[in-house]
Amino acid sequence: MTKKWDAVFIGSGLSALTCGAFLAKKGMRVKVLEKHYRIGGYAHSFSRNPYRFESGIHSVPMGPNGYIYTLLRALGIENKIETISHNCMYTAQFGDIQYVIPSSPDALRPWFYEQFPNDRSDINALFDDMAFLYKEIIDPLFRFEKKGNETNPHILDKYQKQTYKTYIESYIKNPELQNIFFAQWPFAGVVPEIASTTFFTLLFYVHAVEGSHYIKGGFGMLAEGLADVIREHGGEVTCSSEVISLCKENGKIKHAVLASGETIEADRFISNISPDTLLEQLLDTESTNRLWVRRSNQLTKASSALAVYLGFDNDINALLPENILFWYKNSDFTKMNKRITNCDHTSNDHLIFLKTPHPEQKSTLFLMKFANESETINWATEKDHIADSMILDAEKIIPGLSSHITCKVTASPQTFRRYTGNSGGSLYGYANLADRYSEARIPMQTFIPNLYQTGHWCRGVGVWNVMESGHTVAQRILAENII
Ligand SMILES: Cc1cc2nc3c(=O)[nH]c(=O)nc-3n(C[C@H](O)[C@H](O)[C@H](O)COP(=O)(O)OP(=O)(O)OC[C@H]3O[C@@H](n4cnc5c(N)ncnc54)[C@H](O)[C@@H]3O)c2cc1C
Repeated sequence: MTKKWDAVFIGSGLSALTCGAFLAKKGMRVKVLEKHYRIGGYAHSFSRNPYRFESGIHSVPMGPNGYIYTLLRALGIENKIETISHNCMYTAQFGDIQYVIPSSPDALRPWFYEQFPNDRSDINALFDDMAFLYKEIIDPLFRFEKKGNETNPHILDKYQKQTYKTYIESYIKNPELQNIFFAQWPFAGVVPEIASTTFFTLLFYVHAVEGSHYIKGGFGMLAEGLADVIREHGGEVTCSSEVISLCKENGKIKHAVLASGETIEADRFISNISPDTLLEQLLDTESTNRLWVRRSNQLTKASSALAVYLGFDNDINALLPENILFWYKNSDFTKMNKRITNCDHTSNDHLIFLKTPHPEQKSTLFLMKFANESETINWATEKDHIADSMILDAEKIIPGLSSHITCKVTASPQTFRRYTGNSGGSLYGYANLADRYSEARIPMQTFIPNLYQTGHWCRGVGVWNVMESGHTVAQRILAENII
């Protein structure tokens, strides 16, 4: 007879593993099913001798007293994960003018005061408001209060009604200074004029409080640490196990069917995959729900990317000291957005340079620009041309860079989709648009009572947020099922 699990996860992204680890630690029998041969979803690295590249994630706020470490401490694995601090929160470069935003919380306000002495009172007012929002939304999460930010709809209301651009402009009058705040948009994938104020403000302020970090050994270490908690508590994390359908009985999901034909029975199922795939491929048409489909259709997917993974024969730190550089041809973010939305890949109006601080390894660089999936582009033939044009432009920004390249791997939106199943190769699930924060995306409780959703298609994007989403789903399940 097949074993019946308390909770089965479809996908092993960081949100699923966080949720699974908390459920397993509380005594639930947990099984995680991952279609790839490696766990972690986007928290993944790959090797091309002698280089190791992070597929995506490069920087996460992971201060020792921050939220992620609070979760790791609760799971007893805080000592397994070691971070390396980045040397900046980000570097914003417009043409030749560069601003290196410090990642150390103590250095942040003084840096802004020194650079913009005439804007000191605007800066203080903005940071005070960011601190207020942080206290309202983030502080309760540290106390593991069950409802998190859902408890403060009246506070959210003020922020939901404006874009990040209008929010920053309401505090900061100096356009040069405004652009420094706008320049962080690649961290969340949408330009300021359409971006969620709540999300972007918290993104900035969480980095301000915690700093910016890389994980020693790569972000896969985090996935492995969480998976170990599940295994140590009797659970299983299995790779090469693609779920192809979920079968219902009496209004609830009864079992998952794997591509191998095996069926896995459980009391509850937690989906870590894109809602499109869940609705269109895993559930039969009678099991879907009209309202849910409409909600999902109303949400815009976040952009994907064209990325080039570069390995060098020398140490590139002298050429590119900063770990995170957002370069812009100019500050016309509207035009950038139009080009990305129209799938026009001809120009490099922005380039993102992410270095992995591997003291023990040869220099690598992740060079990226946002790009959308399009039916009119043949990525197999086009991606290398686009990558070469990005390298040419990168050379203009950092002279000498291209002459040391000895390894080049290119990824297109198709690559990101293929490896994680994220629709359209979306980097961040649904786009962080102004009115789409947290529960205004896809709710974590689906229309099927024992089916939940976790990860960057629901509450928020990025490691910090998907771990929060995983933890919140775990809290909800545990509250519903006192075991
Ligand atoms: C290029 C790039 C750079 C990024 N940089 C950063 C960064 O610096 N900092 C940051 O915080 N965030 C960053 N992000 C975002 C971050 O990686 C994601 O938001 C987060 O990791 C998503 O986690 P998730 O739990 O939602 O699941 P995902 O990582 O999307 O994982 C979903 C998992 O489900 C599996 N799956 C799919 N279909 C099935 C199926 N049918 N059966 C079984 N398994 C299935 C997939 O294989 C995958 O393992 C970046 C993302 C990308 C792509």
